Amino acid sequence: MDGYALRAVDTAGASNGSPVRLAVVGELPAGRAPTVAVGPGQAIRIMTGAPVPDGADAVVMVERTEAEGDSVLVHQEARVGDHVREAGGDVRPGDLVLPASTVLGPAHLGVLASLGRVEVLARPRARVGVLSTGDELVEGAAPLAPGQIRDSNRPMLLALVAEAGCEPVDLGTARDDQALITSVLERALDSCDAVLTSGGVSVGDYDFVKAALDHLAGEVGRGGTFRWSQVAIKPAKPLAFGVIGGVPVFGLPGNPVSSLVSFELFARPALLQAMGHPHRFRPEVPAVAGAPLPRRRDGKLHLDRVRLHVEDGRFVADPVRAQASNALAATAAANGLALVPDGEGVEAGEAVRVLRLDVPADH
Ligand code: AMP
Ligand code: MG
Repeated sequence: MDGYALRAVDTAGASNGSPVRLAVVGELPAGRAPTVAVGPGQAIRIMTGAPVPDGADAVVMVERTEAEGDSVLVHQEARVGDHVREAGGDVRPGDLVLPASTVLGPAHLGVLASLGRVEVLARPRARVGVLSTGDELVEGAAPLAPGQIRDSNRPMLLALVAEAGCEPVDLGTARDDQALITSVLERALDSCDAVLTSGGVSVGDYDFVKAALDHLAGEVGRGGTFRWSQVAIKPAKPLAFGVIGGVPVFGLPGNPVSSLVSFELFARPALLQAMGHPHRFRPEVPAVAGAPLPRRRDGKLHLDRVRLHVEDGRFVADPVRAQASNALAATAAANGLALVPDGEGVEAGEAVRVLRLDVPADH
């Protein structure tokens, strides 16, 4: 505090009506070391951030004082320690300041700076390649010919990768051509810590991603195994995953909403784990359905896109306006995935658990 460093005992009985008078024996701005001590009946004018001079055990703020020539009238009784920050009040020698695996946020960086630790041992961000596949895909704003669509997955997945704290690597788009996809992936495996592809993993005749990855793992001799699977969820049923030559590859489905959900459920936790994050799952919270979340029994867990808000101290989950796996514009409004178990769906007002997409991890 800006004020006067003094001996608390000298202010005994001081009040507005009957101040005590102390002799001012010096001035101490922040950044200076004290040169004089405070003796009985004395005070030193002190600024916030200055070290407390010898002899003083409290500071009275300037608003409670009145300067008068070489002395000061103190209108308030001080207690020992008033407005003094003890050295070691936050961190003491020998303390564990940041445990291993701490995700360094703004305050941590400030703490490290305060300790003079300008370099720390840190895990590198995973370099994650993102490739879109499909003959129908067009990049950027080029006009669309009949049958063509724009590549929405790549910018979305690059942003999801960046948001997860990884370094995104844009691998572009590849046509549905096994040799081409193989060569793009081969280069990606050499330069990336993980690879995400989208499209080409369902059961269509032109789904070459799986074939390319099988080929790389097998004949090309990179080693590893590839698994093409179907997960009992909706959306995002098809998923290909494998580790080829030590590099995990996630073959995400092509439908944009499926790609997003698949990234959230499978790729993101794995990438966070690979980077040493202690917490890798989005938090799951109890909510109440704000509108019906209808479904039919199909043996799958449904992950409905919802918008969560708080009402009367509890989460209410409102489904976004469209739940189809192509409806990315509707999905863009979502901040949660409602876990709708197999059955007849959830009525408005019923309980439902929701994965929060707006919170990085569960703790
Ligand atoms: P696929 O998994 O390749 O069979 O694709 C499933 C659906 O997703 C098809 O309608 C594709 O046109 C669409 N799709 C695939 N990749 C993308 C992409 N990068 N951006 C937008 N839609 C895509
Ligand atoms: Mg395709």
